[in-house]
Amino acid sequence: MVKVKTSIEEIEQYRPGETVEETAHRVELDVSEIIKLASNENVLGPSPAAVQAIISGVDRVNTYPTVDAIHLRSEILSHLGEGFLIENIVCGNGSDGVIEALVHLFIEDGDEAIIPIPTFSFYELVVRMHGGRPVFLTRDSEFGFSSDEIISKVTDRTKLVFIASPNNPTGNSIDEQTLRDLLESLDAMIILDEAYIEFSSKPSLNRLVLEYDNLAVIHTFSKAYGLAGMRVGYGVIPGWLFPYYTRATPPFAVNTLAEAAAIAALRDEKHLERTKKMVEDGKKFLTTEIPFKVYPGDANFVLVDTSPLTSREVTEALKPMGIIVRDCAGFRGMGDSFIRITIGRREDNRRVVEALRKIKNRVI
Ligand SMILES: *Cc1c(COP(=O)(O)O)cnc(C)c1O
Repeated sequence: MVKVKTSIEEIEQYRPGETVEETAHRVELDVSEIIKLASNENVLGPSPAAVQAIISGVDRVNTYPTVDAIHLRSEILSHLGEGFLIENIVCGNGSDGVIEALVHLFIEDGDEAIIPIPTFSFYELVVRMHGGRPVFLTRDSEFGFSSDEIISKVTDRTKLVFIASPNNPTGNSIDEQTLRDLLESLDAMIILDEAYIEFSSKPSLNRLVLEYDNLAVIHTFSKAYGLAGMRVGYGVIPGWLFPYYTRATPPFAVNTLAEAAAIAALRDEKHLERTKKMVEDGKKFLTTEIPFKVYPGDANFVLVDTSPLTSREVTEALKPMGIIVRDCAGFRGMGDSFIRITIGRREDNRRVVEALRKIKNRVI
């Protein structure tokens, strides 16, 4: 029989979490009684302008989208500020699409990618898909790491370093000086994933791309912009990389409706501001009211240490109360007492706090 590549055979099967429907069925609740705060989606929904753009674009789906999402890239360019050129922007099928393209460009069989853990699991998966070897660095008790710790993991096979900032699921960010030290010391590409940057009080580090030729900064429309289902994201990359990127990736990675929706979402500053305000207020509330240790972080979720209870006990106890959160035990290096809760509307957050209080009182 024909065999698939060994590198693919060795990848562990991805097991997605329970859907809202499955949970509803199992705990005998109606779907409408359940709130899902497990995937850091925008609970306010997409921008109404993005919805309109999708509806208006439907009539045009008989034609191919623009090559290399040129309309969206122009719009992004106008939001980036001084100094950037259109060659500094690439778009993809979700930011996952951009990340995969970069791995495809740099990783050959046996090449290494350094990944500080716990973090977003997709990095490890996509490195393995391309025959590469993930090299893990365990973050400290506050989930930070030093540039020296990264440098100590470098070998002559190191091609990439993945840094999510704010990090998922821990919420903390890298400081600019640590990133600069790495960019100056390493002969490897650093992929800085700013999926949650809109929620941070610290500015994006996009502009460092203009100073260093080994940095790519990744962004998504899936979180603050509420378009997770449209699958669209972008990368800010050094100009020298652009011709290679377009050679190595399909020209129509972003579909017509996703491009139209993303442009409209970028222009709808009001929806973004509403979203950020909701997250900021909700984070303060959850951080003070949740009866466990909370790591507020810089993203649209909080990380909660549920010990002495396990994360599994708490996530399972929340389900019959109609609340789905993320059990972080599945994140490599995270231990078994952390849950990640996406910040919701005021009434969602109240329900979460009440439920966690009940669970804690029940057992302690
Ligand atoms: C959610 C998330 C993304 C977004 O991925 P998309 O493919 O754009 O939906 C990227 N990176 C991190 C760290 C995330 O948590």
